[in-house]
Parts: sequence; C-alpha cells; structure tokens
Amino acid sequence: MGAVLPLALAGAMSLALLAQPAQAQPNSPSAATASNASQPSRPAGSADLAPQAQQSPASDPGHQAEGRSKASQLPPLSADKSPLKEAYGEHDAPSEQGADGKSRAKAAAACDPADFTGRTGSELVRFIRASTTDCVNTLFSLTGSSAQLAFREAQMTSVAYALRDNAAYYPGDGSTGIPQLVLYLRAGYYVQWYNPDVVGPYGPTLRTAIRSGLDAFFASPRSRDVTDDNGETLSEAVILIDSAQENARYISVVKRMLADYDSTWNAFSRMLAAVNNVYTVTFRGHQVPAFVSAVESDPSLIDALHRFAADHLSLLEGDQAYLTSNAGRELGRFLQHTSLRGKVRPLATALLRDTSLTGPTAPLWVGIAEMADYYDKANCAAYGVCDLQERLKREVLPVRHTCSPSIRILAQQMTSAELNASCTSLIQQDAYFHRIAKDSGPVADDNNTTIEVIAYDSSTDYQTYAGAMYGIDTNNGGMYLEGDPSAVGNQPRFIAYEAEWLRPDFHIWNLNHEYTHYLDGRFTMYGDFAANMTTPTIWWVEGFAEYISYHYRQEPYTAAMTEAGKGTYALSTLFSTDYSHDTTRVYRWGYLAVRYMLEKHPADMDKVLAHYRAGQWSAARTYLTTTVGTRYDSDWRTWLAGCAAGDCGGGDGAVTECADSDPRVLGENCRRSNLSATTGNYSYHYLYVPAGTKQLKITVSGGTGDADLYYSGSGWATTGSSTQRATGAGNSHTLTISNPRSGANYISLHAVASFGGATVTTAY
Ligand SMILES: [Zn+2]
Repeated sequence: MGAVLPLALAGAMSLALLAQPAQAQPNSPSAATASNASQPSRPAGSADLAPQAQQSPASDPGHQAEGRSKASQLPPLSADKSPLKEAYGEHDAPSEQGADGKSRAKAAAACDPADFTGRTGSELVRFIRASTTDCVNTLFSLTGSSAQLAFREAQMTSVAYALRDNAAYYPGDGSTGIPQLVLYLRAGYYVQWYNPDVVGPYGPTLRTAIRSGLDAFFASPRSRDVTDDNGETLSEAVILIDSAQENARYISVVKRMLADYDSTWNAFSRMLAAVNNVYTVTFRGHQVPAFVSAVESDPSLIDALHRFAADHLSLLEGDQAYLTSNAGRELGRFLQHTSLRGKVRPLATALLRDTSLTGPTAPLWVGIAEMADYYDKANCAAYGVCDLQERLKREVLPVRHTCSPSIRILAQQMTSAELNASCTSLIQQDAYFHRIAKDSGPVADDNNTTIEVIAYDSSTDYQTYAGAMYGIDTNNGGMYLEGDPSAVGNQPRFIAYEAEWLRPDFHIWNLNHEYTHYLDGRFTMYGDFAANMTTPTIWWVEGFAEYISYHYRQEPYTAAMTEAGKGTYALSTLFSTDYSHDTTRVYRWGYLAVRYMLEKHPADMDKVLAHYRAGQWSAARTYLTTTVGTRYDSDWRTWLAGCAAGDCGGGDGAVTECADSDPRVLGENCRRSNLSATTGNYSYHYLYVPAGTKQLKITVSGGTGDADLYYSGSGWATTGSSTQRATGAGNSHTLTISNPRSGANYISLHAVASFGGATVTTAY
C-alpha cells in the first residue's frame, strides 16, 4: 500500500499520508513543501498518530501504489473535491493568488523562520499574531536547529497559553491573530512528531497549556458563529485537537458540531470543512487509548454519529454527501472494538436498511458496509454485506469489454461507442509509446501482460465505491495499482472515472496518463513501484506520463509552457524530484525535463533507460547526477526560454495552426482550431499529401457538441461518401490512414449535433 515514497521512507510516511485526510481549505495558502516529511524518524506502524500536515498540502501523495490499503487506513472523504477535477499539477501552482489577491508565493517568500526562532515568550506570540497564515504555514517544513528553536516545549507552551488568553476575547474572525496561533501550534506538533530527537519531548507542561488553550477557544461564544470568518479558525482548531492527541477531551466538541450543523452552513465552505474535520478527530481517535475508553464509558458519540447520518439522508443527493457518508463510516469504525459492537451493530444495520448499494443513498450504504465487512465480517449476514466485494463488482461494474488481448475495461456505464473510442485511444497509444520509449519488449520478470481499466461513471461514483472496492484513497484524479509484476497472475489495474464535467463529450479522466504508467512499468521500469522509487525517478515516471499523454493526444501542454517561462528550476535539480515536492514541480517540470532530455539528448536517455530497465537504480542516478550533472543546465535555460516563446525546437508536441489563409486547407503536422458546424452540417477540409507518405493521422479534439470525423481520398468527405470514419459521442476521434494517396485528401467534421471549438490536427 501507499508505496509512493522512496523505499527507505515508505513505512512511516506512507502511513502518515494515509492517516491525513485532506481538508477543505478552498482559500488556504499554498505552502512550501514539508521537506521534513521526507525524514520521518518514527518507526513504521506508529505513524497513524502523525499530526496532520500543513494547510492545503502542497505535496502530492501520488496516485500510484502497489496494491490495496486496509479499510482501517482509509481516511474520511475530504470536503474538497477539486483534486478530482484538476489536471495534474494544477491545484497548488506556487504563483496562484490568495483569496485576498496577494501572491501566496510572495507572502511565503517574505517569511523568514529566523523571525520565529529568534523570539521567545510574549515577543514570539506578538510576532506570530502579526504574521500571516501563509507565513506560519511555511514552518511545517522546519528541520534541525530551526525546528528546535521554533517548537521546543517552552515555545509551544507560550503559544498555547496565548491561545487561551486571546480566545477569551475571540471576535469570531482572524483580526486578533488567533488563526496564526492555532496554525503555529499545529506546525509544532507536526514538526516535533517527525523530528522528536531534535525538537525534544513534549510533556505535561504543554499538555496543560494546550488544554487551557483549546478549552478557552471552544468555550468562546463566537466559536459558534456560522461564518467563513469563524470557520477559518474553527476548522483548524478541530484539527489541532487531533494534532495534540486530545481526541478524548474534545468529544463534546465533536458532538456539539454534529448537532449544530444545519443547511445554513452549506453556504460557508470553511464551516463545512470545520464540521467535516470532526471525522478526522474520530477516525484517528481510535489510535488514542483515552478516546476509546471515553467512548466505552459514554457511548453517546456513537449516537451522535448515527443521528447525524439518519437526519441528513437528503444530503446524499447533493454536494455535501460526504458529511453523511463520513458519519456512517465513522459510526461503523467503532465496530473494531468488541466492547462497542453491541452498541453499534443495531444502529449500523438500521442505516443499511434505509439505504442501498446503488442509487443516491449508496455513499452511506457503502461507507457502513465497508466497515462492517472489515471489522465484523463474522456477522456479515446481520448487516447483509456478505460477499461484499463480489456484490459491488457485479452490481456497480456491470459493463465488461475486452479491447484487445492485453486491455480490458470494467465500467459502471459506458455505451458501445464510448467503449470503442476508449479502446481505440488505448490501443493506438501502444505504438506511440514504443516509438518514443524505444524499448525492445517487456523488462525481465514482468508478468503484467494485461491491464484492467476500471471506469466509474463520475468522480462522485469513484469516491463512493473505489475505496471500498479497491482499497484506495480517492482524493485524487485516479489511481494506478501496479501490484507485484514478478508474481505470475498479477493483475495491474487503473481505477478511473468519467469526467462528468466535460459532458456531453465522453472522457475517462487521465486515461492516457494512467495507461502510460502501465506501459512504463512494463517496458521501462524494472520491478515493482517500491523498487522504482528507491532513487528519485519521479521526474521520469510522472514527466513521461505527461509527455506521452499530451503528445499522443496532440494537446498542447500550455500550463507547462507557462512554467517554462518562469525558469524556476535547473535541470540538474529536477533529477531529484520526489512526491514530497509540489505538484507543479512533479508534473509540469517533470514533463519539461523529460521532453528536453528525450528530444535534445536522446543518447543520454538511452543510457538512463537502459539502467532503469535493468533495475540499476544507483547507476541511473549516478549517470544523471554525475555524468549529466549540471552539464546541460545553461542550454536548458535557453531551451526553456524558447519553449515559453512557443518553440521547443521540434518534437511532435509543437503543433502550430495551419498556415494557409484558406481555413479549409490543412497542412503537414498542423492544426485548425475553433471549428464549428450546426446540426447536420459539415466543417470541410483537405490537405495535399506528398507521394510516399506511409501514414496520415487525423485527430479531432476539444470543444463542445458532437462532431464525427470522415475521410475520403477522392472528393469531399460526407456521411454518404467516405472511405474511413470515426464516430461516436463527443469530439474525440482519430483516424489513421495507411498509405494515403498523394495529392488532395479530404477530411470533414459532421455535426451529429451542433459543435463548436473543435480542433483538427494532422500528422504525417
Ligand atoms: Zn501519474
């Protein structure tokens, strides 16, 4: 599970990542990378208690793993669904603007840890209160003596008492600096967890202080305000309960928030985040013995969870479904304690009876069923969840389709046209991949001869079902599970969903990116994912997936070109990228580094890939860091500047608008964009192909509506006069013409329904 970090670090940190549900912070600052997160010093297995990372985590827990995680490790669903709908690298570009219009990057850059480490007592408190949450957020990455100076127990104690004193006059917003105090405390617990030897122990002195701080905050009348101003502090204070392992003491706060929530909260995203964060307190509370014994002696928290789920079934049909389904899942999680089963079982079965495996109430049914199946399997009949996995597979993924001997799709709902289009997209990607990768067959000991593609009907269905069915965290854009390729009969699969926000066009989100991971794992990277990660190979793994995905689809990667113009990283720096870095670096800069190396220095890449294929990770690393080293850094700067200006120096990603002034005329490796036609009409095009051309590829993509693609070697292409066609819902179609005739070739887009904004691209 979760082997998304270098092997030596995988144990403790991957557990920690799984234990940290992302929270809703739509306007929260992007933070610097928690570099200390790469140096956990706690042994594997104890990391379940690791305090939650900074706001809006900038690093990406990744979307690849070896296999399923246990239900006990999967966190509550996040209130923030944006990671499911964004392109990789999108959600934390460092240049993004904060809600107040200020550049977050600038705010963070203006932040100097020495301002905190050099102060103590009331002077430290004053400085924190006058600081910003953006700045305090950067302190999650402190290590070494800075970590000790900022977060030793005496410092934390001062800040905790300051929380107490200021909370007495909490005005219901951030004007007195309370958000900064709370975030500082969270950062301290986080850094101390991962650097206990450096920071030193936290003992009863801090415990007394933090209790006084949290007591005072939750007692303040304005902490009950239903506003985003209050939600900013409240949501963080709830997380602080867990960071300080005070889960038992604040069960009353959890109950109070579950009871207080009503539909008026839905207008305030930070209030939604705050109430959803109580599930973090309960989820992780099971690791805190005092929490468990508190619930054993007073099980009213279990009633509160049940009541919330039962009273808010109507939420299941809307944007806040996660609040209800998380309540059910957290209720079910108490089944792990035999002492509490008698209490939980009837409540859980009652909720299961009122909901069902499919339809709008499914998120709640699945959440409870998952827990019952995992923690109380012997009594599965009482819940009606026996054979859960098989039932889910049978009822949720009824569509089975074999694309080719190596590709099979299991889908929730896809038409045959959509299946055919997706199959074609995958099958044709093979040839493209091999042309670029220049491999000579699978790596040794690889048994991943077939790939299973799981396609849910929407991002919501993915969140409802994929955790229970495949043991994955679903706060991401899809997941590739490679398994152990050396095991005979191993079944790799990627778990994806239809991008419902792109309808009426049909797209399986990240289809070609995830499929590249499969091909790359089979033909480039020896061994399993954990082995691949023993040295920093992420620049290649993610950069190459982006490279193939964009170039194969002939989509310009404009976001990467924008990054190129900033010149943020030296090439030699990017060779050390890992998943703890922000996603802009992982995906966009990974793409740029891969493109530069493949297109400008193919001989070097032959060497590196030969090492990757043989599992010679250190040799590959040495080649990149020593043989290549900084040798290309200055040429790289020049290349980036050219790339940003629209010329990356060749390669098939550089498709420009066709030059002819007649918009009907296409040309060699160019595109016509913004095409449209009304229902039943055509957008007509043609191009002259030179004699001896082996293959002509025509792609239509983008825009809205439904355009089909027609080709004729003689005369205008129409539905009644064509030799090849690519039809089906949406505008994503490709035709490959073998040995096209020399001279004029005709291509038309037929509007099955009116379409607009479509692009036709040629390649030969
Ligand atoms: Zn990827």
